[in-house]
Amino acid sequence: MPALAFAPPPASPAAETLRAEVRAFVAAELAHRNSVDRAQSWSGFDPAFSRKVAQQGWIGMTFPRQYGGHGRNALERYVVLEEMLAAGAPVSAHWIADRQSGPSILRFGTEQQKQDFLPRIARGECFFCIGMSEPDSGSDLASVRTRAVPVPGGFRVNGTKVWTSHAHEVHTMILFCRTSGAPEDRHGGTSQFLVDLKSPGITVRPIYALTGQHHFNEVVFQDCFLPENSVLGKLDDGWNQVTSELANERSGPERFLSSFTLLVELLRALGPDPSERAAIAVGRMVAHLIALRRLSRSVAGMLQAGANPALQAALVKDLGALVEQEIPEIARQLIATDPPTPETERFAAVLHYTMMHAPSFSLRGGTREILRGIIARGLGLR
Ligand SMILES: Cc1cc2nc3c(=O)[nH]c(=O)nc-3n(C[C@H](O)[C@H](O)[C@H](O)COP(=O)(O)OP(=O)(O)OC[C@H]3O[C@@H](n4cnc5c(N)ncnc54)[C@H](O)[C@@H]3O)c2cc1C
Repeated sequence: MPALAFAPPPASPAAETLRAEVRAFVAAELAHRNSVDRAQSWSGFDPAFSRKVAQQGWIGMTFPRQYGGHGRNALERYVVLEEMLAAGAPVSAHWIADRQSGPSILRFGTEQQKQDFLPRIARGECFFCIGMSEPDSGSDLASVRTRAVPVPGGFRVNGTKVWTSHAHEVHTMILFCRTSGAPEDRHGGTSQFLVDLKSPGITVRPIYALTGQHHFNEVVFQDCFLPENSVLGKLDDGWNQVTSELANERSGPERFLSSFTLLVELLRALGPDPSERAAIAVGRMVAHLIALRRLSRSVAGMLQAGANPALQAALVKDLGALVEQEIPEIARQLIATDPPTPETERFAAVLHYTMMHAPSFSLRGGTREILRGIIARGLGLR
């Protein structure tokens, strides 16, 4: 098979039945959510909404039933994700746990960790954040300096994590840090830990985004004690574990639907009789989204089949970020917001929000240059 094959996923009639249920749910639950709030897409944080989603059985859908999951397949889960994002639902409280922390615990965790965390994740009661990046370590994750040193009964952690989304409002972090290893062994000697963010020795400080919003944080560990049973998976094998999360992290519909609310508002503002130029521009954006959706669903099918489509996921994320960033650039050229009308005022507010967020689309989850390096390597070009 060629390195970059994207086979269509198997048909899933159950997923299409589910789609109607999810649409009805979000229409009722989000009837009064305004467009700017919808534009937050998967950054919108609302624990009460997450619990309602959990009550529908739509968090931890693919976890086994014995751990509180619902035994659904990846394509059924995909339908829930895309309908939530298309509607601008505030999903970020449970997003990371559902997308990657839960699956990592399922794959690498002890029986005790599975029983402890997975049912709570599926009930929408336990939210996670990702503790990877550091002040001097982003793209080059292997250079992390936060260190966990063995002490009686566990480990003592010192170091600083940065850009940690929602660390101030979630319960648990999966911390990636150094546990041993010589400096020349960059990938060895790293490990992952399940960290209760209420543990003594952890300080969470806000970092404000361009929009003025508080989404991410600096998280400082000062002599923070972690018990032995908080190690996730194998000690010193953190690099292999963390890289296996990346296909989950990079391939979903959140990697191309971040500007979707703006596209909806653009269509409203253009009205039923757009100019030919506007119709062509909209058609092009929609065609790109449809192509991305096919690629992304294909990756969901590969994940379902137990493959590790990290290369395909990098491609989805890179192409997706291009389209997400292109939508506000094109949209702003198509609508005159002066003099304002009710439609153009709403469009302008969503445009403003999306423009302020767009630079982050090609940074979070892996920058453009890094993804292209992975794709080039996967294709044997470097
Ligand atoms: C909205 C948002 C949310 C985030 N949430 C989290 C989170 O929850 N948890 C977490 O751990 N991290 C999070 N991050 C951090 C994110 O993963 C990093 O920003 C990203 O990995 C890049 O690291 P950096 O910012 O240190 O940039 P750097 O790695 O310093 O890169 C700066 C620039 O140099 C380029 N560059 C770097 N190395 C190379 C190279 N070898 N070849 C060519 N070009 C290169 C990069 O592409 C980039 O353009 C978040 C970031 C954003 C924007």
